[in-house]
Amino acid sequence: MGILDVKDVGKRFGGLQALSDVTLSVRENTVHAIIGPNGAGKSTLLNCLVGKLMPDTGSVLFDGQSVLGRKPHEINQLGIARVFQTPEIFGDLTVMENVLIPCFARRDGAFELNPLVSVASQTDMAAKAEAILADVNMAQNRGVHAASLSRGDKRRLEMAMCLVQEPRLLLLDEPTAGMSRADTNNTIALLKEIKAKRDITMVIIEHDMHVVFSLADRITVLAQGTPLVEDTPERIKGHPKVQEAYLGT
Ligand code: ADP
Ligand code: MG
Repeated sequence: MGILDVKDVGKRFGGLQALSDVTLSVRENTVHAIIGPNGAGKSTLLNCLVGKLMPDTGSVLFDGQSVLGRKPHEINQLGIARVFQTPEIFGDLTVMENVLIPCFARRDGAFELNPLVSVASQTDMAAKAEAILADVNMAQNRGVHAASLSRGDKRRLEMAMCLVQEPRLLLLDEPTAGMSRADTNNTIALLKEIKAKRDITMVIIEHDMHVVFSLADRITVLAQGTPLVEDTPERIKGHPKVQEAYLGT
């Protein structure tokens, strides 16, 4: 059993079967990439994992617990965090304030600041936020307004906002979409650093094969809503079905 076990998941949108018989297992502390052509169902699958969509069939277990039917914030509290394609940060707040927001949200189970939170726990949170900022090389920016950060630093801040929740599973939907080659390489380096510093499992949906082959331990290829093959990057590269369906070579 993996940390995340998806079994026979199906999802239909009207006449379109977006996912069918999706079964995959993600092993703890690995980076598992899900690749596939546009429209293959990658984002739909991710949305089923975070409670944004309810599949019609199948099961999703995180650490043995069913996630289906739970609200997104409940799934988040189980230890699953999602990194968005566009950084969702608060431009008017400082870097440190942005990192503190999910700390409070996680305590209370709702996205609200609680004025009754004790000073002691606020101090703990500030220390934790500081440590996470150091981990993503953003400590020097703690007082800067988020709106004025470079694109790459916004990505770092957003990662810090995820990591401060201490997730066991991080879901990333095309984290380098629209980035220059330099920013893409910085993101790869950042994800590697994060992985090296803590026990964390990552599921990464990605178009860019350079990113996939730089990071992934296992790859699932999704085509027309169904897993085509799951294997190591080395074997995926040479797989004739994959080359035909996806790599276009
Ligand atoms: P991918 O992320 O692999 O590009 P998606 O999961 O976004 O693919 O989409 C899979 C298929 O489901 C596509 O044909 C898409 O048009 C369709 N689809 C996705 N979301 C919806 C929705 N909310 N309503 C109707 N169709 C959808
Ligand atoms: Mg998508």
